[in-house]
Amino acid sequence: MKLILLGPPGAGKGTQAKRLEERFGIVQISTGDMLRAEVAAGSPVGKEAKAVMEAGQLVSDDILVRMLASRLQQPDAAKGFILDGFPRTVPQAEALDRMLAEKHLKLDAVVELKVDDAALTDRIAGRYTCSKCGTGYHDQFKQPVKAGQCDACGSTEFTRRADDNRETVAARLEAYHRQTAPIIPHYAAAGILKSVDGMADIDEVARQLDAVLATV
Ligand code: AMP
Repeated sequence: MKLILLGPPGAGKGTQAKRLEERFGIVQISTGDMLRAEVAAGSPVGKEAKAVMEAGQLVSDDILVRMLASRLQQPDAAKGFILDGFPRTVPQAEALDRMLAEKHLKLDAVVELKVDDAALTDRIAGRYTCSKCGTGYHDQFKQPVKAGQCDACGSTEFTRRADDNRETVAARLEAYHRQTAPIIPHYAAAGILKSVDGMADIDEVARQLDAVLATV
């Protein structure tokens, strides 16, 4: 299964991708996570990306296309993958088409998580993850069962993303509508675009995703 999860920041792409990873035994490829790892490592790419990410803008297509191409070469991507956060521009979508065509591969589906902008700021501003295993939580919508302790691994350390604040969210939404939403017709024309209601709760979105993917 080769999928793209598409939707604005806070739509639930990461949460659903993690679930699909387990369900289908395929890897989540999150370009945001990859960039954050580069920033944390202080690599040349990380140094270039840091300020752009903190401003809520998009890192250059050049960097992203190279990064994704090398990630797709890794053996764990051979069984299938869920792209989360890529492509985010028309040139990235076209570069992905070329990469897959060279490998004689085809996407099975591009699933758009449809959400209202108004809900996104609250979703994003309240979210945090376990520092150890990456499980996602939310101040309002999903607290750990035992306060301050990760349900999945028991860790007591949590992190919040530097760009998950109200000011940066506005820029990230603007970037989504201006630069990313134009890729939707590209996949509609290819006949592989599906959509689910990203406003529903996590389990309901998961059910809708399963239903949509059962048809591909
Ligand atoms: P995300 O974790 O997907 O919300 O990504 C966090 C930030 O990383 C974005 O706001 C961008 O600055 C950058 N980023 C992630 N993926 C891409 C991409 N495909 N193209 C450009 N910038 C990206």
